[in-house]
Amino acid sequence: MLEVVRVPVLSDNYVWLIHDSVSAETVAVDPAVAEPVLQAAAARGWTIGQIWNTHWHGDHVGGNAGIKAAAKAWGGCTITGPAAEAARIGSLDRTVREGASVGIGDHVARVMEVPAHTAGHIAYHLPDDGMIFVGDTLFAMGCGRLFEGTPAQMFANMQRFAALPDDTTVYCAHEYTQSNGRFALTVEPDNMALRERMEAVDTARARDEATVPTTIGLERDTNIFMRARNVAELAQRRAAKDAG
Ligand code: ZN
Ligand code: FE
Repeated sequence: MLEVVRVPVLSDNYVWLIHDSVSAETVAVDPAVAEPVLQAAAARGWTIGQIWNTHWHGDHVGGNAGIKAAAKAWGGCTITGPAAEAARIGSLDRTVREGASVGIGDHVARVMEVPAHTAGHIAYHLPDDGMIFVGDTLFAMGCGRLFEGTPAQMFANMQRFAALPDDTTVYCAHEYTQSNGRFALTVEPDNMALRERMEAVDTARARDEATVPTTIGLERDTNIFMRARNVAELAQRRAAKDAG
């Protein structure tokens, strides 16, 4: 069994620590910064031996160097990230493409190339553990902004995510849920699953509680980008959200 810990950093980023008790290995996914992530690991008696980056943005790789430096005390830290963004990230020890396997103990993550937010964005899917780390591509009731890609690419990404098992846990990198949900309600005001979810989200946020991880099943019912029927519909929704 893998244990996953959410580390909130900066204004709304989530760094995820994955720990395998059998091998005692720990992975930090998208460390925006080093110190709070190192502290969250140390508080549990864990040492970070790997970093998995999803894309080159600073709020996902900013902690790479600091964690790598600290890891000299316990045997080092291997940094894995997208081959297509290796030049922009700079600190990668291993570059990966679609279909590559990345391991933590006996657990295997498959790399999915999901370009659109950035041109080389990847996700890490652990099919046997029912988990996926999606960076800034899929959010609770939302999707990433299209900084370096097209609506067609994001539509294809959403279709791929939607094809995963319903009970797959989705670990996204930001707390954007309430804003996404408010916009989603303007698009699908009669979606009862969406209305119910937003009530729960509003309650959680009023208490300053996190609303992620989410699941593929929940997103299939409430995510208007995953529910877009074609590229044009996704494009229109993305443009409207960006303008709002
Ligand atoms: Zn980003
Ligand atoms: Fe981000």
